[in-house]
Amino acid sequence: MSAQIVKGKVIAEGVYEELKQEIPQLISQTGRRPVLVSIYVGSHPAIEVYIRSQNRIARMLGIEYRWYHLPDTAEEREVLRRLDQLNRDPEVSGIILQLPLPSHLRRSALVNAIDPLKDVDGTHPENVGAALIGEMRVGSCTALAVIRLLEATKTTFEGKEAVIVGHSELVGKPLSLMLLDRMATVTISHIATAKRGLLADHVRRAEILVVAVGSPEVIKGNWIRLGAVVIDVGINQVGSRIVGDIEFGPAEERAAFITPVPGGVGPVTVSMLMQNTVKAFKAQVGGGSGNEK
Ligand code: NAP
Repeated sequence: MSAQIVKGKVIAEGVYEELKQEIPQLISQTGRRPVLVSIYVGSHPAIEVYIRSQNRIARMLGIEYRWYHLPDTAEEREVLRRLDQLNRDPEVSGIILQLPLPSHLRRSALVNAIDPLKDVDGTHPENVGAALIGEMRVGSCTALAVIRLLEATKTTFEGKEAVIVGHSELVGKPLSLMLLDRMATVTISHIATAKRGLLADHVRRAEILVVAVGSPEVIKGNWIRLGAVVIDVGINQVGSRIVGDIEFGPAEERAAFITPVPGGVGPVTVSMLMQNTVKAFKAQVGGGSGNEK
């Protein structure tokens, strides 16, 4: 058996087609254009690649993209001041804080300072809390991307053994709620699971497996359950290659569906950022409640 490869680029194109219909209508209804602002602190070549790609896609869709670069030495209060200006600027629909931040800046202090209505990454406590009680406005872009990829495989969720590896606030935790809302039986495994030597046991049970760890090929292909749907969120640079968290070759032999790295979750995550920006725009200026999926 060889898995069907789930191509993120194709799924992202589908999202862009929907947005290309919707955005011109919103602009003509409101006389305004969605504006996405990116804050980038420090120096990180990978972030600059993301910013260029976000800028190109936003413009292709009719979203205005602005970005601010603050030096590595920027103090927390400077970043907070910039966020405050953006929160109060009625032209700005969405704010994204590029990660990772320099180590002297507290991610939570900065994320918490973003107006929840402009939090297009879906990580402000108010948005996380809304998701917890089933009233999600904007969700984590990466977790939403994983759901979109799973839906593209036409997999059903109800009663399925879904195993997530990695419990980060950005990916593992919000995704666990989204899978739970779809009535999957969700297990979240993490570093302590690995330290007890139990990771393989959990992975072997997974009918739906999502790995978001950031450690190259930490999940061995022969652990994958036959016929599983496998989503690899990890992005790891190994020499000149980019690899995921899953040993792709042997995993592909056992899975029914698998995402490649690169070209799997990444492109869909960017499309979810654009979708969240449009939701934030609608929630602020009308043209929709901002609550719809
Ligand atoms: P993170 O915040 O570092 O979280 C990683 C998680 O994996 C933590 O829960 C960590 O536990 C756990 N972990 C670490 N080593 C482990 C091991 N050997 N076995 C089991 N669990 C282990 O990272 P993240 O932000 O969730 O990102 C994870 C990966 O996804 C990274 O490679 C990142 O670049 C990638 N990513 C991709 C996209 C995309 O769009 N494709 C978006 C976001 C992230 P502890 O914290 O307790 O150590």
